[in-house]
Amino acid sequence: MSNLTKEEILTILNAKDSDILKYMSKTAEYRENNLITYSKNIFIPLTEICRNDCGYCNFKKNPDDPNAIILKTKDEILAELKEAEKYGCKEALFTFGEDADDEEIVQMKLNEFGYNNMCDYIYDICEMTLNETSLLPHTNGGNFTFENLKKLKEVNASMGLMLENSSNRLMELPAHKKSPGKNPQLRIETISNAGKLKIPYTTGILIGIGETKEEIAESLLTIKDIYDEYGHIQEVIIQNFTPIPGIEMENWPEPSFLDMIRTVIAGSLLFKDTDVSIQVPPNLNNDTAQIFLLCGADDWGGVSPVSPDYVNITSPWPGIDELEKLTIDTGFELTERLCVYEKYINAEWLNELLLEKISNLS
Ligand code: SF4
Repeated sequence: MSNLTKEEILTILNAKDSDILKYMSKTAEYRENNLITYSKNIFIPLTEICRNDCGYCNFKKNPDDPNAIILKTKDEILAELKEAEKYGCKEALFTFGEDADDEEIVQMKLNEFGYNNMCDYIYDICEMTLNETSLLPHTNGGNFTFENLKKLKEVNASMGLMLENSSNRLMELPAHKKSPGKNPQLRIETISNAGKLKIPYTTGILIGIGETKEEIAESLLTIKDIYDEYGHIQEVIIQNFTPIPGIEMENWPEPSFLDMIRTVIAGSLLFKDTDVSIQVPPNLNNDTAQIFLLCGADDWGGVSPVSPDYVNITSPWPGIDELEKLTIDTGFELTERLCVYEKYINAEWLNELLLEKISNLS
């Protein structure tokens, strides 16, 4: 049962003038400490091929693009992971296009490498990461079936999938009209299956892709309902759409700064009685990131000292020193976390192999 109704969330999303400040200060009442977390990671795109074609995508490449990553080799990945180790990274973020093996060229590469499908390949990459490096895998590669999630759980400390929005209407807009994998029912099913399988999980919403405020409220409530049922959601990302030259939606308007503020406040107040973190990506909000900490956000997400944010290639992450300065200047303390949150580090959620890796890390 949610502590806020849809109407109450909508009141926050439509707040004006001093009401915005009133709600902002309300988020401070529920803070349990002054810590703001981040995860030091390396972002490795395993493939840039994707079955979807989102209007805001800056990541996917066509299979016939000579510069496209069709499938990284194990040696390439291991070299990147070893480099990340030198920088003290603890999370190996594997983000890549959905169902890339629908494309013949990817399937041929998989066969050449000795795999039958993407899931077998991802499993092997994650297992190698656990066996040969000190990093913890976190896979974020679109929808997976229940069986594939079950398999990948064995070699991932945590996983993730953005809900983005729970409205079917967006399937008719430029954002998702060519992306069957963005069907909200499919994504809700994947996120729920991860809950059934007890996979520590990250999800979130994307703001500014044509959704109404009502649809934002419904999306937040959908995530809250799933969390209430399974308890596996460790953080909710509130991400703003950022136009990039060359994407289909390059002329689409960005969400307003105030809309981001109102949404972060709404998310923070909706999850106030839980230990779910609210994350705002600092690299998409360079000049304004600090204000979100005053709206209840308590996590900067993954930040990499070695790799770019491949899905937002024009938005470099701040250095960790810079992030610390921003955090302290706002009145908080920056602290590193793992990709899996503390409360999930036990035998109920993770197998022995992962627990042992984590205990070696600490
Ligand atoms: S945004 Fe993600 S799902 Fe959409 S086309 Fe790009 S890589 Fe695929």
